[in-house]
Amino acid sequence: MDKLAILGGRAAVPRDRRAVTWPIVTEEDRKAVLAVLDSGELVSNSDTPTAVDDLESRFAERVGVDRCVGVSNGTVALQIALAALEIGPGDEVIVPALSFIASGLAPLHQMAVPVFADIDPVTFTLDPADVERKITSRTVALIPVHLHGMPAEMGPLRELADRHGLAVIEDAAQAHGAHYEGRQVGSLGDAAAFSLQVTKNLPTCGEGGLLTTADARLADKARMIRQFGEVIEAGKSRDYLSYRLGWNAKMNPVQAAFATSQLSRFDAYERARQANVTAFLERLRPLPGIQVPAERPGSTHAWHILRFRFDAEALGVPGVSPTALRGALRRVLRAEGVPMSQYQLRTLPQQKVFVERTGFGAGYPWAAAATPRAPDGSHPVSEAVIADSLTLQRRHLNPGSGELLQRYADAFEKVWAHRDTLATIARADA
Ligand SMILES: *Cc1c(COP(=O)(O)O)cnc(C)c1O
Repeated sequence: MDKLAILGGRAAVPRDRRAVTWPIVTEEDRKAVLAVLDSGELVSNSDTPTAVDDLESRFAERVGVDRCVGVSNGTVALQIALAALEIGPGDEVIVPALSFIASGLAPLHQMAVPVFADIDPVTFTLDPADVERKITSRTVALIPVHLHGMPAEMGPLRELADRHGLAVIEDAAQAHGAHYEGRQVGSLGDAAAFSLQVTKNLPTCGEGGLLTTADARLADKARMIRQFGEVIEAGKSRDYLSYRLGWNAKMNPVQAAFATSQLSRFDAYERARQANVTAFLERLRPLPGIQVPAERPGSTHAWHILRFRFDAEALGVPGVSPTALRGALRRVLRAEGVPMSQYQLRTLPQQKVFVERTGFGAGYPWAAAATPRAPDGSHPVSEAVIADSLTLQRRHLNPGSGELLQRYADAFEKVWAHRDTLATIARADA
């Protein structure tokens, strides 16, 4: 077998095969965008239906809920869900310790305190047992994140929420199309937030977000909140009366039309991704010392991000620390042409905004409580996952990535065949 590329050997992934794009922009997408420009309907607060209404009704139907509200991005969809549920100062919201920063920032914008619970070491989603330990008399909601495309354990979480009278807001930004026990994510909580940011599984040409809910009153509130607290009704001209606190958080019709065009190809892309990713993971599973992402029985995975955990002992490089092994694997695999990356360098509670409690002025909203909650303790599973894992992002979303993923598998097999060299590199790094 060839020498490792990091030592001057030939890379397992040929250079001319590496550039795989996401999102894919077709002639249909271009036509959809131009049609909006030509229509003159360039904002969504219109008294006639726009491309935003069209996307909303198609997405609601897909998810299997009555209502969908288009907003400016996924973070805002989370904020508006919390606002529409009347979550505010003094409230606590439980969020997983491993997620994108937006999951933790959203409660802050409502002057609520995010409380971080640990995750499951295999699915990387909220651990219901740790959630239960974090519930206090001030807890009002849970934000389960379907991280990397894997649905959170919604059954046990819903049961906990019902027992304690809590709202459930799904963060589905990474999981369009994933199922939990036969139901689509986005239909499993009181409300859900999706992102249409360009890197997500359903992309728009920039930024966008969708809030889904089965609750018509909640959806009406969300519509008011995205539009300065006003009520915009079809067939009636705008009266500029504001009934509650709102933002200007609308989605742009150009972006809605682009996303609708992408949505029409979503199922075909999703089928290709399932086949490509499954075949890739099948080849990695027999390698010792690598934990390959898997579906939980009863759930389907949207494979937004592929996260691999590594175990030095099982890999046959004992005595190498998780971070040294991770660093060596990152360099060695990248040299072979596999763009391994770290997704999240620290847990959410380790981010400065939460460590230093810099919100609204010094200490707020934490200081608003009569007895401010003590800083979060450690989240050992989330911390271990960050220390011993690497991810693949974005390229595998392209439906034509099957061949590339097979070359990635060649690279993993090659590196695993050179484990003695890997160990030397990892020990030199340590
Ligand atoms: C991307 C993302 C968001 C935020 O979406 P934006 O559209 O980028 O604001 C929220 N949560 C998670 C888990 C995400 O991955």
